Amino acid sequence: MLKTLRDVEVAGKRVLVRVDFNVPLKEGKVADDTRIRAALPTIRYLVERQARVILVSHLGRPKGKVDERYRLDPVAARLEELLGKRVVKVDDCIGEAPRAAVEAMEPGDVVLLENVRFYPEEEKNDREFARQLAELADLYVNDAFGTAHRAHASTEGVARFLPAVAGFLMEKEISVLSQVLERPVRPFVALLGGAKVSDKIGVVENLLGRVDALLIGGGMANTFLAARGCKMGKSLLEPDRLELAREIMEKAGEKNVKVLLPVDLVVARAAEPGAESMVVPADGVPEEWMALDIGPQTVALFARELARAGTVLWNGPMGVFEMEPYAAGTLGVARALAESGATAVVGGGDTAAAVEKAGVADKMYHVSTGGGASLEFLEGKVLPGVAVLMEKAG
Ligand code: ADP
Ligand code: MG
Repeated sequence: MLKTLRDVEVAGKRVLVRVDFNVPLKEGKVADDTRIRAALPTIRYLVERQARVILVSHLGRPKGKVDERYRLDPVAARLEELLGKRVVKVDDCIGEAPRAAVEAMEPGDVVLLENVRFYPEEEKNDREFARQLAELADLYVNDAFGTAHRAHASTEGVARFLPAVAGFLMEKEISVLSQVLERPVRPFVALLGGAKVSDKIGVVENLLGRVDALLIGGGMANTFLAARGCKMGKSLLEPDRLELAREIMEKAGEKNVKVLLPVDLVVARAAEPGAESMVVPADGVPEEWMALDIGPQTVALFARELARAGTVLWNGPMGVFEMEPYAAGTLGVARALAESGATAVVGGGDTAAAVEKAGVADKMYHVSTGGGASLEFLEGKVLPGVAVLMEKAG
């Protein structure tokens, strides 16, 4: 178990909090504040307990230099609204400006440092840069689950210079995902999709020994269907993964894991919203057509399985849900999951967006805020930003 904020004295302390404020901006404003809201419990707790709260984050990919488009001022403005409290934005993250700002802080004050990725040292996990960040504080809190799979100065390096504990978001993400992997309520069903098998091999392999059933949709299902001898037309397919798909199905058989593939598919002549489309049985994608979504019978089949599940882990959309004509499978499965009564845990950036689009995010037990980080966790990897945090004794 990780040590968290609750396990340390914070009153009066200068606390450097790594948050994930990598939010979409539009016309100088925060377009989606989900990630800012997700960090509020940690920030509020520290403010209430009279810590001096120094927030640090990255935003976008400024490639190691100052880029006006990626300044954190819009984030500070939104955070101020959400907190109902002044947030002092500093235009640098190391050196004289942050030092002066921190010196001027009273207990309960909040400072937001400038984008750490304005320095190439951040992604290089430069030791001296990490030390300079650490110098601003007495305690380090990592609440940036979404960046925990990166060993950067503000996510990993800094923890070598300060006592380091998990924030509440980090704690929740790790505890939910571990619970699902280690102690799922059975039957435990994994619903997997997305574009490619190759993106998800690690996840499939790690889940194979843990789940009772594997439901596969999305582009990834094409390769599995082809491995079973189905003609897939022009569908996205990975010929070099056919053997792997066969092996996975064989291993699943040995472990008594039920594997369900689509029984029908929405096919179109092109991956475009206006293309001619139709529903066909999964073994018969005509030449010149491509599978872009699971069909209605598959939605019903998957829904029955979800309704019986104790725990469902969902990663990867069932089709090209970004285009309206191919979103029905993904949205249908999202609704079925919402109604299932299973402990539903959703990982992956696109899958989280799909659940949001279906309007059922609040019906899920947990929607992970970390796309890549949640995938790496589900692959069974140790996240570098987590590995450096202190463990509770006993
Ligand atoms: P996540 O971000 O949740 O981990 P992925 O990035 O793995 O999910 O997968 C999402 C992508 O998969 C989407 O862009 C979607 O368009 C694509 N996709 C899903 N089904 C298909 C399909 N049948 N053919 C091509 N692309 C697909
Ligand atoms: Mg994705």
